[in-house]
Amino acid sequence: MKNIRVRFAPSPTGPLHIGNLRTALFNYLFAKKKKGSFIIRFEDTDRDRYIKASEKHILNSLKWCGIKADEGPEKGNYGPYRQSKRKHIYKKYVKYLLKKNYAYYAFDSKDELKQIRTEYKDKGKLFIYNYSTRKHLKNSFNNFYYNKIRTKKKHKKYIIRLNVPVSKTIKGSDILRGAISINSKVLDDKVLVKADGNVTYHLANVIDDHLMKITHVLKGEEWISSFPILHLLYYYFHWKMPKFLHLPLILNSCGKGKLSKRNSKQLNIPIFPIKWKDTIKLKTLLGYRELGYFPDALLNMLALFGWNPGCEQEIFSLKELIATFSLEDINLSSARFDKKKIDWINHRHLQIKSIDELTRLVKLCLKEKKIYFNNDKTIKQIIVRIRSQCTFVYQILEKAIYFFKKPNFNKNYIKKQIINRKRTKKILFLIIEWFNNYDKNNFKLLRLFLAKLAVKKNLKIHYLLKLLRLSLVGKLVGLEILFIIKKLKTQDIIKRICNVIWVLN
Ligand code: GLU
Repeated sequence: MKNIRVRFAPSPTGPLHIGNLRTALFNYLFAKKKKGSFIIRFEDTDRDRYIKASEKHILNSLKWCGIKADEGPEKGNYGPYRQSKRKHIYKKYVKYLLKKNYAYYAFDSKDELKQIRTEYKDKGKLFIYNYSTRKHLKNSFNNFYYNKIRTKKKHKKYIIRLNVPVSKTIKGSDILRGAISINSKVLDDKVLVKADGNVTYHLANVIDDHLMKITHVLKGEEWISSFPILHLLYYYFHWKMPKFLHLPLILNSCGKGKLSKRNSKQLNIPIFPIKWKDTIKLKTLLGYRELGYFPDALLNMLALFGWNPGCEQEIFSLKELIATFSLEDINLSSARFDKKKIDWINHRHLQIKSIDELTRLVKLCLKEKKIYFNNDKTIKQIIVRIRSQCTFVYQILEKAIYFFKKPNFNKNYIKKQIINRKRTKKILFLIIEWFNNYDKNNFKLLRLFLAKLAVKKNLKIHYLLKLLRLSLVGKLVGLEILFIIKKLKTQDIIKRICNVIWVLN
């Protein structure tokens, strides 16, 4: 079988949306499963909407997710991988289309076309620039303009349009949907070359896919309307068309419409993998990375949007996704975004991550908080005890923060837990004395001491343990008290108890 070659072809006009990340992922999974090549190509022909930072955002997002390209702007034998650098390549194909009358010159200005569209609209009609209208417009079908072209294009500002045939049934197919058939009379004579000389999406896309030997095109459903035009171009060039598959949309959680920035705000979920600095609105939108999601959990979730592994398993690493993925298991129905599900997936990933990896991540969080703690053994023991309650790594730290720094005592809270301030202070002094004189890790002795103290003070041992927890944790939460005592240094235990005494003064 021929080498599978797929491409992810984003337009760098903004940050990478998770819908497009899913397109990249499906292409990647398919390529890796088939031992083929995954290619990145920037479709940056629309210079008005081009945003330089967008390329970086796309590449960094893919890198964070662990999606590596075999070819792309950085390497590969089929480059350049930016369409803006391929202008010289497109020229001869444009010439060919013109020569064959598959394309033609047009001179209508944007304003003129706008006016015509409005006139049609006012009459309740839809304007299509095609065989039915082109004779009355400014283009080379019209003798007057044809002569102008011949007299060396006096009109400097011209565009080149695709000559869509009058009535041809365009028959193509989609891996998921089967046959796609459309009559060309409903199609627009799409612009192939703009007034600034840049080719447009349709033409560049077809030429590049052909020259880059792309075998399968997997892209979002929103592109399905351009399929007949692409099909026609392949036909005009006499090129074999790659196999096409249009992926179902990712809908917002109500199941209506594509997941947008606004939904993202409402649902409190990001729509970008990593943060995006909007330099126009001067604000930074956080991504999944910044909110603590694992890249493999995000990919796991995106994979389940539109792909059904056909088994019970729901949690997949990237490797497992590659092993299990197949195009046949992609669903036609659109997938709905669900915050609970992504959180659940992240939770599950946190449970199966290796302790070493989690230790590394917890240490990174500690470093960010400028807490320097290097006892890996302790961190590991904490993770084992806490991870089941956590969805995010930062929650491990939040729940275990008292191991790494002294608690912030809330005076009113502490006072509310205390039975009798004076008596309690005395008890705390006795406890300090014990820690001063004995080995804190001799739990047998500690238990005996507390039991005796309880009898002597006519209190329940439970109250003494509560005092210890309040002192060491600051609240009545946390891991087993003996484990906490074991992990804290004697001097810190004493300091923390002293702090409570001070609060009670
Ligand atoms: N450049 C298009 C985009 O921005 C990609 C369309 C395609 O994959 O053919 O999504």
